[in-house]
Amino acid sequence: MLKINNIRSGYGDVEVLHDLTFDVKHEIYAILGANGAGKTTLMKTIAKVLPLNGGEIHFKGENISGLTSYQVAAKGLAFVPQEGNVFPTMTVMENLSIGCVLQGKKSKKEKLEEVFDVFPDIYERINQKAGSLSGGEAQMVAFGRALMQESELLLLDEPTAGLSPKYVDMFFNKVKEIHEKKNVSIIISEQNAAKALEIADKIMVLNLGKIHFIEDCAKCVLSMIQEGYRI
Ligand code: ATP
Repeated sequence: MLKINNIRSGYGDVEVLHDLTFDVKHEIYAILGANGAGKTTLMKTIAKVLPLNGGEIHFKGENISGLTSYQVAAKGLAFVPQEGNVFPTMTVMENLSIGCVLQGKKSKKEKLEEVFDVFPDIYERINQKAGSLSGGEAQMVAFGRALMQESELLLLDEPTAGLSPKYVDMFFNKVKEIHEKKNVSIIISEQNAAKALEIADKIMVLNLGKIHFIEDCAKCVLSMIQEGYRI
């Protein structure tokens, strides 16, 4: 699905990601790490919101290193940022409709039905301005809009940061449900390692912009933590 080869990226002259190489298959891939580890920078670099300073990104076998964020989205890669993920002055319905700007196979009606099937709570709020939603509701709208894009790969940047425990559990369940039922691959960055390990197939731990380790069996790491090991 995604092949990352020796990428480097950052902000101006400041290099934040140093030579990262990894592959993502059809799976839930969790990127873990402390504040400042580089999780958001990595997500933005894959989505081409930030330019590459070196290396290559291949998506579904195609080199997308030179493409813009819009071109990458049109190829089926949707990015849900941690902040600023809804247009506050637009209604929920208008926010969702933006996901239809890119042509897909399904009609808008079909896509909306799918989104409301996964997130029934936001159906109640279709005429409400997105800026008046709670953090959890806004995340659902942003997630829903990404689903409307009919993407094959979803990048979710710390989607549960700042959410109440009720929303955190619900959100992780929805991520798993979408992966399983809608055949979507997911990369999710998280500080809440224990929660991410419950749904992830594979994990990467980032530290100071470098890969600290990659573990193919997220459930094995979860068992080790439950037995008292520290990662
Ligand atoms: P958090 O969990 O706190 O969101 P993170 O793992 O997502 O952290 P990043 O936001 O990717 O980490 O930040 C990685 C490094 O890049 C940090 O040292 C941060 O200070 C730096 N950084 C982030 N944004 C910018 C920016 N716009 N300009 C310069 N440096 C930045």
